[in-house]
Amino acid sequence: MNLKIAVQKSGRLNEDSLKLLKECGISVDNGKEQLMAQASNFRLEVLYLRNADIPQYVKDGVVDIAIIGDNTEREKKTGIRRVLDLGFSRCRLSIAVPKATEFTGLFWLQGKRIATSYPNSLKDFLTENGLEAEIHEISGSVEIAPNMGLADAVCDLVSSGSTLFKNGLTEVFRIFESEAVLVANPGLNGEKLALLEQLVFRIRSVLAAKNNNYILLNTPVEKLEQVCRLLPGMRSPTVMPLRDTGWVSVHSVVHEDRFWEVIGQLKEAGAEGILVIPIEKMIV
Ligand code: AMP
Repeated sequence: MNLKIAVQKSGRLNEDSLKLLKECGISVDNGKEQLMAQASNFRLEVLYLRNADIPQYVKDGVVDIAIIGDNTEREKKTGIRRVLDLGFSRCRLSIAVPKATEFTGLFWLQGKRIATSYPNSLKDFLTENGLEAEIHEISGSVEIAPNMGLADAVCDLVSSGSTLFKNGLTEVFRIFESEAVLVANPGLNGEKLALLEQLVFRIRSVLAAKNNNYILLNTPVEKLEQVCRLLPGMRSPTVMPLRDTGWVSVHSVVHEDRFWEVIGQLKEAGAEGILVIPIEKMIV
């Protein structure tokens, strides 16, 4: 029995989803017009589907797991299992208004016309804030609605903000943040759960590697303690003697978030010849 995974057929998530599978060592034939493909070296079948349809396919068990934007599941509310955050396709669902608008706070939205492709998410947000507004559902290019006189505001996904900027809109409120997630049907059998576990193990290793760098440096022995305190590593740093007596080489792993801060502190502590190398996989 194979595990069936849905990925977006075309669009923003497609490329990164397939890249992630590739980084997990899973080879999938990615023919443009294909609806389905079998991985050659993992018991995985890939189905290429429309993004908005995927949560329902997962819920109905047509596919076992999927990579989708968290925002899609929040909109569809199918109640499928969220397994893992994947760290790509980061965006947010936001309210934006024309630049010239004097937005005075959320109450400004009361009674206004808001265009969106995310009517359920917008409705929940309005209800939570005790607001009522006219929701105009549009399936694409929501950002042009205010310029065409169809709406006073939009509720849309934003990542860099350049689409809003090009259309003369300003983001005034972030409703929620989103990123790509791995989701699963909640009723998978034991065999499929075991395959999912293997896949999750590989994905975690790939993501951990992306978030960390391997670092090598030289330090005088008398500075070693101070340098090691800055580089806790996975267990503890590797320390190797240099040919020059009184010097050692230290190898360790640094998390991306703390990277520049740690480099600065290492230099101050007396480290020299610092090399930073990307990690391909990291088994955590
Ligand atoms: P699409 O390719 O337009 O069908 O978008 C697919 C998914 O990409 C969305 O559901 C979001 O999860 C994600 N996404 C990331 N950034 C953006 C953005 N700026 N606009 C639209 N979708 C985005």
